[in-house]
Order: sequence, then C-alpha cells, then structure tokens
Amino acid sequence: MILKIKQNPALNIGKYNKLMKKIEFHDRAQYNLEQILGRLYSILENKKKNTSVTFHELEKQVSENTNLSSFINELEKKNYIKISSNKIQLTKSGFKLGETIVRAYRIGMRFMADVLSLSHKNAQKAAGLIEHLIESETLDSLCTFLGHPGRSLSGEKIPPGSCCKRKLTSVKPVLLKLTDLSLSEKGVIKYIQNIDASLTHLGIIPGEVVTLIEKRPSVVINIGSTTLALDKHIAEDIYVKPDMKKNQTL
Ligand SMILES: [Zn+2]
Repeated sequence: MILKIKQNPALNIGKYNKLMKKIEFHDRAQYNLEQILGRLYSILENKKKNTSVTFHELEKQVSENTNLSSFINELEKKNYIKISSNKIQLTKSGFKLGETIVRAYRIGMRFMADVLSLSHKNAQKAAGLIEHLIESETLDSLCTFLGHPGRSLSGEKIPPGSCCKRKLTSVKPVLLKLTDLSLSEKGVIKYIQNIDASLTHLGIIPGEVVTLIEKRPSVVINIGSTTLALDKHIAEDIYVKPDMKKNQTL
C-alpha cells in the first residue's frame, strides 16, 4: 500500500510577516510585563509569610537599564499588581500569570536541556521564548511527557499544573521514573533530576540501560554487569524511557 504523504502547505510570507509584526508590536511589550511578573512570583515563592515585594528587591532582579517604573505603572494599570506603602503585591490574575510563566520556563528548560541536550545557555534562550508562547494545553502535554517533573534544573519547585494534580497519563508519558518500571523491565536513562556525582561514579548516567530488579525495601537495579541498591528518593529522580517492545530500539 502506498501512503500519500500530505505536502506542507505553501509558505505564506505575507501571513508570516503579519504574524511577526504582531509579535513585534503587540507581544513584545506584553512579554516584558510577563517577565517582570515571573520575577515577582519567584521572589515571593521564597518568602514564607510575606506576600509583598519591595521595589528594591525587584530592582535587584532586573538589569540596570530597565525602566522599571514604567513597567510597574503598566502592570498596575492592567490590574496585575497593587502598590501600597512602596510594596508590590500580586493580584489574583498577576499571581496566576506569573506562576504560568515560571512553570513554562522551568518545564521548557527541563525539556531543552534534559531531552534535547541543549547547552544551558541555548536552553535558557529557547525556554525564555517558549514561556510566552506556549498554550496551557501544550504545556500540560509537555509536563506529562516529562513525567510531571517537580523540580527545575536548578532545584526550584515547578508549580504543578492541572495535569500534575490529575496525574494525567492520557498523553502516555514517554519517560517514567525508574521506580515506575515493572519488575524485570528495562529502560534507558534519559535524565536525572538532581544529578549527583556519586551516581555518575556508579555509571548511572543518561544513555545507560537499567533493569529494575526490586522495589522494596530498597530499589535494586542492574546496570551493565553491576547490581546496585538505591534509596527510593534517589531512584525516583532517575527518569527512563521504558522498553515498550522487546525489539524496539530504545
Ligand atoms: Zn504535570
């Protein structure tokens, strides 16, 4: 049987230019506001009880040539923040948008660095763009694909999305936690959430094939000709691509 492959639609430069213009004139200003909201959110996530940010705290997070006061005015006008006695508070919509930006950036970074193996610098560039463009449904699919990662590359908490709360698996995760493999099942290590030098020393590195031998009392794996016992919390940081079919290339 010959399958007809659908051709890509012709590139419509006019339409493309229109889109680029839209990004340039409309979204660039919005992107800047979103970035500042993201910064406000990440300052706040490190504070336990204090729900406001001082101008000085925010100033330290942005480059010197940023005209912060004009952005602050714009954010207040759009009802993303409230200001009282020189302190900034996020409104409900400001908090939600800031959280979405931070979540998209941290998930984007994980994908770019862990799955696509981009350098940290390039991953930052790509994730910095994606955070403004990705639709929430696509972000949830990406999160599910990555097995709902809880921590960013630098160890910060990734705000959970609706996919994580529902433990969505309908977009079948391509990657699983090592501990989610069945007994005797093999998987290829794709990434490790909190890379530890001792794991590298034991040969637990991306690309290696592991077989899960036991889950309790500790997690026992075979890697090459070595059998290792790991603490559960360490094993849960190791993400693998399971061997779905025996003959399938991993
Ligand atoms: Zn998720």
